[in-house]
Amino acid sequence: AAMDKKVITLLRTQAFIDGAWVGEPRMPVIDKATGAEIARVPDMGAADAERAVEAAHRAFPAWSKLLAKERSAILRRWFELIMEHADELGLLLSQEQGKPLAEARSEIRYGAAYVELFAEEAKRVCGEVIATHKKDARVLVLRQPIGVVGAITPWNFPSAMITRKVSPALAAGCTVVVKPAEDTPLSALALAELAQRAGVPKGVFNVVTTSDPAPVGRVLTESPLVRMITFTGSTEVGKILMRQAASTVKRVGMELGGNAPFIVFDDADLDRAIAGAMASKFRNAGQTCVCANRILVQDGIYDAFAARLTEAVRELRVGPGTETGVTVGPLISSDAVRKVEQHVADAVAHGAKVVIGGKPAPIGGNFFEPTVMTGCTTDMRIAHEETFGPVAPLFRFSTEEEALRIANDTPFGLAAYFFSRDMGRCWRVAEALEYGIVGVNEGITSTEIAPFGGLKESGIGREGSHHGIEEFLEMKYTLMGGL
Ligand code: ADP
Repeated sequence: AAMDKKVITLLRTQAFIDGAWVGEPRMPVIDKATGAEIARVPDMGAADAERAVEAAHRAFPAWSKLLAKERSAILRRWFELIMEHADELGLLLSQEQGKPLAEARSEIRYGAAYVELFAEEAKRVCGEVIATHKKDARVLVLRQPIGVVGAITPWNFPSAMITRKVSPALAAGCTVVVKPAEDTPLSALALAELAQRAGVPKGVFNVVTTSDPAPVGRVLTESPLVRMITFTGSTEVGKILMRQAASTVKRVGMELGGNAPFIVFDDADLDRAIAGAMASKFRNAGQTCVCANRILVQDGIYDAFAARLTEAVRELRVGPGTETGVTVGPLISSDAVRKVEQHVADAVAHGAKVVIGGKPAPIGGNFFEPTVMTGCTTDMRIAHEETFGPVAPLFRFSTEEEALRIANDTPFGLAAYFFSRDMGRCWRVAEALEYGIVGVNEGITSTEIAPFGGLKESGIGREGSHHGIEEFLEMKYTLMGGL
C-alpha cells in the first residue's frame, strides 16, 4: 500500500470548492479488494453544498461568456492531462472501486473520450434563423447555457460518469457542482485537480464529498441558483431527485436503472453470442446498468449456449483488481453480495439450477463466484430486479413474439441485446424492443459518439454524442423587430 500511495500523485483528500481544497479529511475511503483504508476525505453537509453552489453561480457569467473556442482549448488540455495520467488514475479507480486494472484504465480512456468530444462540440453550438412571419422582423433562436448544474454520480464508473456530465456542461458554458458517490470520491477529486491544472477557472467545477447524500442532494435539487440536476444511479433515488427538482422546475437529466434482456436466437452466431454475453454480463463484475440481466435463449440453441457459456465462465479469474490476470474483482459492498446471494437463492427455490458458481468466492471479502444458472423463469426476482453481480440467469423461449414479450415486460428500458443472423428479424426486433440502446450482435455498445440513455423508468435525456451538449443549453426565441 505504501508503494501505491507513492505512485498516486493525484490522491486528494479535501473537497474542491471555488478553486480551493477545503474541509477536514474524516470520511474513510476503502480499498474494495483489501478492506484497507486508502485515504480520508471531508464529510460535508448542506452548508458546504450551498457554498459550492454560490461559487458556481459567481463563476457562471465569466465562464459562459468565454468564446467557445477558449472553453474548447481548456477542455482539450484537460483531456490531454487525463490521458497523460491514465495509469495512475486507473490504479486509483481500481483501488477505490474494485474493478480489474485493465478495465479501470479503459474506463479512464473512455471517460477522457467524452472530454475530447465535448471540447470539439463546444465550437459547434449553433442557433437558428427561421423564415420570418413578419416583413420587418426576423425570428432568431439563440442557444445559451442553462446555468449552474448539479451532478450526482454513482460508484460503478467513478471517473467516466463524471466526465460524461461535466465535460458537456462546461463545453456549453455551464458551471458545475458534483457530488460523487460516497464509495468512490477519489477519482472525482483527481479529475478536479487535473481540471484546475488545465485552466478551468475557480468555481466552474466543484466537488463536494459526503457520506450522507440526502442533505447535499437537497441543496442541488432545491437551490434556486441551480438550473439543472443531472443524475446517474438507481431509479428509486432518481424519483426522489425529480420530485425535489419539481420545487424549482429544474431541468433533469436522469440515467437510472435497467433490466437488460440479452436474447440469443437459434440462428445466432454462437461464438459471437458467447463473447457478447461474457462482455456484457461480467464486465465490472456485473455492476453496470447496461449489463445483461436476463439471458433469453431460444429452444434450439439453449443447451449448446449454456454449455459454452459455462466453459467461458470457468476461465474467469476472481481476485483483487490490481493483481495480474484477474478478470472479476470484488463487489462494492457486503450488502451487494447479500443481494446477489438472495437472487440466486430465490431462483433456486423457484426451480433454477446453478451450473457453475452460485456462492461467495472462497477468498472471502466481497468476492462472488461468476455464476451461470439454467431454468430461470419470469416468476423469479432475478427476472424483475437488477442483480448487479456476476450472475448469468438463462431463460428459455420458443418464438420471437415470446422473446419480445418477456424482454419488454419491465418498467425499465435502458439497454437490450440480441443475436441473430436473419436480416428481417434484426430490423423487426431492434424496432420492437422498448429500450434506449440496442446492441444487435454486439455485447458492448458504450462509446462517447453515441447517445446513451433510457426509456420508461430508466431515465430522461441522453448523454454523449452531439446530442449530449443539447441537454445543457436553453433555447431563446428572439423576435428582432423594427427593421
Ligand atoms: P447505487 O444503487 O448505484 O448505489 P444510488 O442511487 O443509491 O445508486 O446512488 C447513486 C448516487 O446517488 C450516489 O452518489 C449516492 O450518494 C446518491 N444518493 C443516494 N441517495 C440520495 C439522496 N437521497 N439524495 C441525493 N443523492 C442520493
